[in-house]
Amino acid sequence: MLQQTQVKTVIPYFNNFVKKFRTLKSLSKSNEEEVLKMWEGLGYYRRARNLLACSKELVKKYNLKLPDTLDKIKSLPGVGDYTGNALLGLVYNKPTIAVDGNVKRVFSRIFNKEEKKINFEEFIKRNKKKLFCTNRNADFVEAIMEFGALICKPKDPNCYVCCLNKTCKYFKSSSKIKNIRNKMIKNRNYDIFCYVNKKKQIALTKNNKISFLKNFNLPVIRVSNGFHNDQNWKFLKNYQNSISNLKLNINLYYKFSDKIPANYRWFSLISNKEFVPSFTKKIFRQVSTLF
Ligand code: SF4
Repeated sequence: MLQQTQVKTVIPYFNNFVKKFRTLKSLSKSNEEEVLKMWEGLGYYRRARNLLACSKELVKKYNLKLPDTLDKIKSLPGVGDYTGNALLGLVYNKPTIAVDGNVKRVFSRIFNKEEKKINFEEFIKRNKKKLFCTNRNADFVEAIMEFGALICKPKDPNCYVCCLNKTCKYFKSSSKIKNIRNKMIKNRNYDIFCYVNKKKQIALTKNNKISFLKNFNLPVIRVSNGFHNDQNWKFLKNYQNSISNLKLNINLYYKFSDKIPANYRWFSLISNKEFVPSFTKKIFRQVSTLF
């Protein structure tokens, strides 16, 4: 849940989630709709789907026990190098480092060398003896991430209180490295067409065409080819929405109608028992201004 999301946002979601799914087994018996509903508003819904798929696989293949090798852990849905190493360290106390942005920054500063010039995998392999000189590996894997988040922070690192400042090259250097992260932003234009009715409802269907919104309930959505000039649809608003590295420019159109295409269903603009993703909720907010 914490990936790309702030701690204070996550806390109520986490508490509700573990209250509902007290064990891995109870999670594995759930379904996507139920899990997504618990996740509603957090975004990045692939994480929720992967978590459910992962629990099912742990039940089916591993008798509810997390495997203890990196290769096997990484074969689980949604688990890559970072999560795999974090789990090996935290669960099995294995000597490992979960290399995230915080960890990369810490090492790059200690050597005053740009992140892109360091092969982290190689570096960890070569320095195993020096790095893993404790038998508290579970604490170490967590501590090094926390150190990056709390002491060697992205902006204004706390060098004066840092226990590494006697050897840290960044601290001592007069020409400090700069790590510039270039997030590749992609721009996309979409037209969205909403059937609405007087009961404050909107017609949605499972989207299968736009890959990053696949299987989510949405109104009609099409790649935009400029301003849509169809008398049947009224223009409501232009707005921006960002999903991961995508910057979406959206033209929203609407039509009051009681008839909707066969594969559509009515959803309330106010509240629904069914899961509605944040992207669609933003459409709800725009359309609600009609009432
Ligand atoms: S001395 Fe400063 S830059 Fe170096 S590791 Fe500590 S906090 Fe980071």
